[in-house]
Amino acid sequence: MSSNSGIQIPSRLPLLLTHEGVLLPGSTMRISVETARNMHLVKSRLLKGTSLKSTIIGVIPNTRDPEHDTEDLPTLHSIGTAGLAVQVVGSNWPKPHYTLLITGLCRFRVAQLLKEGPFPVAEVEQLDKLEQYTSPEEMSEAAGPDGELGELSQRFYQAAVQLVGMLDMSVPVVAKLRRLLDSLPRETLPDVLASMIHTSNKEKLQVLDAVSLEERFKKTLPLLTRQIEGLKLLQKTRKPRRDDDKRVLAVRKGGVLPGRQFSLDEEGDDEDGDDTAVLERKVKGVNMPEPALRVCLKELKRLKKMPQSMPEYALTRNYLDLMVELPWSKSTTDCLDIHAARVLLDSDHYAMEKLKRRVLEYLAVRQLKSTLKGPILCFVGPPGVGKTSVGRSIARTLGREFHRIALGGVCDQSDIRGHRRTYVGSMPGRIINGLKTVGVNNPVFLLDEVDKLGKSLQGDPASALLEVLDPEQNHSFTDHYLNVAFDLSQVLFIATANSTATIPPALLDRMEVLQVQGYTQEEKVEIAHRHLIPHQLEQHGLTPQQLQIPQDTTQDIISKYTREAGVRSLERKIGAICRAVAVKVAEGHNVTKSEAAPAESAPQGAEHGEGKRGRRAEEPDGVSGDMAVPPDMPIVIDHIALKDILGPHVFEMEVSERLTLPGVAVGLAWTPLGGEIMFVEASRMEGEGQLTLTGQLGDVMKESAHLAMSWLRSNAKNYQLTNLVGGSDPLEGTDIHLHFPAGAVTKDGPSAGVTMVTVLASLFSGRLVRSDVAMTGEITLRGLVLPVGGIKDKVLAAHRAGVKRVIIPKRNEKDLEEIPANVRKELDFVTASNLDEVLNAAFDGGFPGMSNPLTLPHIVSKL
Ligand code: ADP
Repeated sequence: MSSNSGIQIPSRLPLLLTHEGVLLPGSTMRISVETARNMHLVKSRLLKGTSLKSTIIGVIPNTRDPEHDTEDLPTLHSIGTAGLAVQVVGSNWPKPHYTLLITGLCRFRVAQLLKEGPFPVAEVEQLDKLEQYTSPEEMSEAAGPDGELGELSQRFYQAAVQLVGMLDMSVPVVAKLRRLLDSLPRETLPDVLASMIHTSNKEKLQVLDAVSLEERFKKTLPLLTRQIEGLKLLQKTRKPRRDDDKRVLAVRKGGVLPGRQFSLDEEGDDEDGDDTAVLERKVKGVNMPEPALRVCLKELKRLKKMPQSMPEYALTRNYLDLMVELPWSKSTTDCLDIHAARVLLDSDHYAMEKLKRRVLEYLAVRQLKSTLKGPILCFVGPPGVGKTSVGRSIARTLGREFHRIALGGVCDQSDIRGHRRTYVGSMPGRIINGLKTVGVNNPVFLLDEVDKLGKSLQGDPASALLEVLDPEQNHSFTDHYLNVAFDLSQVLFIATANSTATIPPALLDRMEVLQVQGYTQEEKVEIAHRHLIPHQLEQHGLTPQQLQIPQDTTQDIISKYTREAGVRSLERKIGAICRAVAVKVAEGHNVTKSEAAPAESAPQGAEHGEGKRGRRAEEPDGVSGDMAVPPDMPIVIDHIALKDILGPHVFEMEVSERLTLPGVAVGLAWTPLGGEIMFVEASRMEGEGQLTLTGQLGDVMKESAHLAMSWLRSNAKNYQLTNLVGGSDPLEGTDIHLHFPAGAVTKDGPSAGVTMVTVLASLFSGRLVRSDVAMTGEITLRGLVLPVGGIKDKVLAAHRAGVKRVIIPKRNEKDLEEIPANVRKELDFVTASNLDEVLNAAFDGGFPGMSNPLTLPHIVSKL
């Protein structure tokens, strides 16, 4: 197509790749230059160029995503527009860049890429004629001869005239365009108009690629017609009102949104230009309740009058943005199927049968009665027993969004209810924030650690929470920041706590407490193999083919590296192993295996483990004996590898070691973190009959100590106890010191009564307490043993510590049912209704008195 008449562009052109649109011949475009390639081009060609030719460059649309534009040259679009750089403006802020004003001259085709760096240069073939000047007459001649094209160009010309006729002639640019239409060669019209009317870059690219004139007319004519139709529509709907904002509204009320393609570029754009109008549309579109809508419209009105530079503008704007983002009427549909829920709960959680049963009941009632104004479920138990994860499963079974709100340490009610908007930096509370995050109005909210709510001068967060949880009030919960009511009645609240003792009573009153107990060693092993290990493997990008942890290793981790009711540190330890193995895997090495251990430990794992895991564990062993084929994978963690990774044992069995002197016994305590064993020590020295107690004891505990002392004194003769000076009153000429180690932890409660009696009896008689016994029970002055709480947790703690015999109050016998059979099997339970029975069970050979011959301990279970 290159012609011998007219202007020739240089045959070698530097190429500028741009993301910013498509430059068409006959139009002018501003291009911002930021990439290193383009910067080089501008510096070495445009800024140094002296001749006109050196300011002609090839502009090629870059279709590659700017984010992924890298150093190497992308595949070039084969057709571009040669352009004349009319203006180059440089700036250093915010980073060095240039802005070019470029006028498109003609199309070219890239014939051959001559060099790629620092900017591409290509051999090009000119595709369009570039006339110096063509009079309309000459032009019609040029287009005239072949009939079809003539007709096409005529239709195009008429459409262009019609379009311009619809515009306001008083605008100078429109008047100029009208004049140009007649003076421009017809063949240039498609390019010129395509770059003026609203077209997408894709459409412009199609016009650029239309090298033959006929095709170009055919491509652009529909675009022109579309524009005309759009303008007609706009004019029809626009007539009644002239005022700008009202105009936009009127159009929208009519249900016709003037899409971008309907407006001329010069006309400006409703949507981008006027973002308050967009906001207004959003406000009306989110279906908020009447009072909220009224507030929003009022704020919008204020916003429109405010200059953007006013600080309050941003405040109001933020407020409105939040209001439109809140899920006023958006919700998910519950998809509850009790059968599926049971399966899901079972597959997510091992053990915790009682809790799962209660949760299913709760869900079943919900299913029958679509709105449930029942109590809020509150899971109470030690950390890491799966409270949060059961909450998450409930959300999953219902198909609802899940959001956790941590309340630990919250002591300001505005954390719950938000700050008033008059404060600088005011923001909504956690409830409203949570709703914004989940984007629906019926999520499951887990209020984590309600027992750790604080109190301060800034108001009591618990009372704010009361409003949130109360079904009578929460349909109109008013956050201070929003200042309008939001309906929380569809939100399903679940709370968690470590202990009910510190939950504010009013709050506790609204909740149904479900106790979640600690796990036994066996349960932990199962949980580890079914859930924790697969989960940690996945998190660390490992597979069971790379890392295997046999069951007896898990048992070692549980007993030697963790001492907890839940499984949280167990999970952390498994994580630590995964990290260590991940390094080995990444390095392509194997963990230093002990010579003998894997051969023993892995098959054991295979025996106990699930079939799948077990079989895999066998594989490496089959090979590991064969030194010729060193098995790299899987890495099996035996106890030596375990020590390598986790270091020396953190916990050893210490009970028997510490019971080597008279005056020491093991009690069982309950703490919010689960059950614990507790050593009680006593010593005596010459003195004046004083009883000293140390170890951070509460009042109830101090009273128990005095009770124990008094009971022993009154029974000293009976048990033939002697004091230091040979008399029968243990306190005569003697001071007693009772100590409860771990003095940093505050202890309180009556259940250490029996232990104190045992310790003192051991001290006064000089006899050792059995090294494998632990006990719990409240005492009375008359020597009766009363029931206490937390038996399951205490027994599990005793079992963890390797104790063999547990003394509990007779009236707690029913609690033994809760204890898993395998634990029961390994322990002797002695139930005692009075202190004689306690002492008889606590000492080897019993503890006979003169009036009460030896009663054999009543052992209830050794199944
Ligand atoms: P909590 O909220 O009680 O402190 P989490 O729910 O955070 O404890 O549980 C800690 C981890 O232990 C989670 O990864 C959880 O999946 C896991 N976990 C706890 N109990 C079980 C269980 N019974 N079955 C499976 N995984 C459990």
